[in-house]
Amino acid sequence: MADATPLYQTYNRAPMRFERGEGVWLITEKGERYLDFAAGVAVNSLGHAHPHLVDALKAQADKVWHVSNLYEVPGQEELGRRLTEATFADRVFFTNSGAEALECAIKTARRYHFAKGHPEKFHIITMEGAFHGRTIATIAAGGQEKYLEGFGPKAPGFDQVPFGDLDAVKAAITDATAAVLVEPVQGEGGIRPIPVEMLRALRDICDEHGLLLILDEVQCGVGRTGKLFAYEWAGITPDIMAVAKGIGGGFPLGACLATDDAAEGMKAGTHGSTYGGNPLAMAVGNAVLDVVLADGFLEHVRDTALVFRQGLASLKDRFPDVIEDIRGEGLMLGIKAKIPNVELLMAMRAEHLLGVPAGDNVIRLLPPLTVTAEEARDGLARIERAAERVRETLAKSA
Ligand code: PLP
Repeated sequence: MADATPLYQTYNRAPMRFERGEGVWLITEKGERYLDFAAGVAVNSLGHAHPHLVDALKAQADKVWHVSNLYEVPGQEELGRRLTEATFADRVFFTNSGAEALECAIKTARRYHFAKGHPEKFHIITMEGAFHGRTIATIAAGGQEKYLEGFGPKAPGFDQVPFGDLDAVKAAITDATAAVLVEPVQGEGGIRPIPVEMLRALRDICDEHGLLLILDEVQCGVGRTGKLFAYEWAGITPDIMAVAKGIGGGFPLGACLATDDAAEGMKAGTHGSTYGGNPLAMAVGNAVLDVVLADGFLEHVRDTALVFRQGLASLKDRFPDVIEDIRGEGLMLGIKAKIPNVELLMAMRAEHLLGVPAGDNVIRLLPPLTVTAEEARDGLARIERAAERVRETLAKSA
């Protein structure tokens, strides 16, 4: 073995070790502080060590950690009720991750048509640049060759169309189509929002053809765009929705939400999970909702998002050689770089600011939703210094 690690070599890890976190800050073993605008890729929705979440987890840990889904789990009933009251959904299935929430969404859509006597309707239309997870079904749904290669035949039943191409969606519909699956804002694809008119048009197309609309709000949900869920901006509702990341605030938790009608086929025995809806996860999920649903929280997200938007727009004007474009919704922001995105990301890291690379040469900024305007300005100042660093390097190599 060339290196000493016992771990699979599946990640290109940065040589950084964080020992603890405080709000928007991560602190390394050496005591260096980093402004965390990666937030575990949109997971630490309330930052690190949020006292309400810590208390909820500790209190539950003293009671019971795990009971099987063979029994009633009160925390599931409570979180499920709160999620259904706050959304389009009537039913919730809890999972441990985003990919599992998508698996449940895919199975729910297929069973819906099966229960209606149409087992042949199992195809799902997805969009190019999508990311839905790393299971065998979700890499097929995402359709990205780099994630499919070497893992055997692509799971059948996923038909991909170019991003945002409504005519292509219509053309892809056949008698075997069950649903359309999209991220309202593509995350890993490069912070690409689907325009609201297009989401509405997708809803209409689904209604016209008897298809289910599945939204993947694993990254853009739970307040990230300034609404509880991104679909609200379009004034439409999906039939099924996958949620994860921010809903657990750092505890592994996902959920598949559905209308009564869409979930019709999911009878006893059709689906299950050992850990899904575990009491620890439910305690944290309920605590996250206490904060996100509190009066004024989403307004705070929208206000802080404005500080970012204005600051980033001005940086784009001042560094046109480094920044090509700014995109996103709420606190799901993307800087499309003029230079390779990793160079800007490294320069940001040298300024002790963490972001996340994405497709289309974008850097994602996904700060905790609790980020203050002052912390936003601190981050913007670091991006400015990073852009200056990049510019100096460009000048030297010219
Ligand atoms: N869907 C979207 C939009 C995501 O961003 C991700 C993860 O990044 C997933 C699904 C998969 O979630 P997980 O990694 O928790 O399985």
